[in-house]
Amino acid sequence: MALERTLSIIKPDAVAKNVIGQIYSRFEGAGLRIIASRMAHLSKSEAEAFYAVHKERPFFKDLVSFMISGPVMIQVLEGEDAIAMNRRLMGATDPKKADAGTIRADFADSIDANAVHGSDAAETAAVEIAFFFAGMNLYSR
Ligand code: UDP
Repeated sequence: MALERTLSIIKPDAVAKNVIGQIYSRFEGAGLRIIASRMAHLSKSEAEAFYAVHKERPFFKDLVSFMISGPVMIQVLEGEDAIAMNRRLMGATDPKKADAGTIRADFADSIDANAVHGSDAAETAAVEIAFFFAGMNLYSR
């Protein structure tokens, strides 16, 4: 295991449900530290750039529309094995398939409105953290 950083986004559906604190508690309960955070209302071009890897997928347009439908809370999580740990806490992409007790099982409504984003690998985590926090000092705790 290694000390890692990962990018997490609480999506517009979960922000609208006022469960930011409950989701932060899941991160902290699992030993992850929130070392940076900011709320943003993404523009269409920001959302398209962030999800560029999915641009050929049939759901891309709806995904971008959803991600700009309201503010999101963006954070960097740090901890041992943080990337995989966050993915475990999130649960499967489709909340109907997510294990009981995961963030998506408890807070998500559908595969489109699925409460959270989390980086899936070290390379994507580095790119995604830079996308939102470039030029900012991030402090380990
Ligand atoms: N998505 C969707 N329909 C699909 C597959 C994915 O709306 O059939 C959305 C969903 O919001 C998901 C995001 O696209 O979180 C990115 O997809 P990915 O496969 O990377 O899932 P994740 O890593 O978020 O679990």
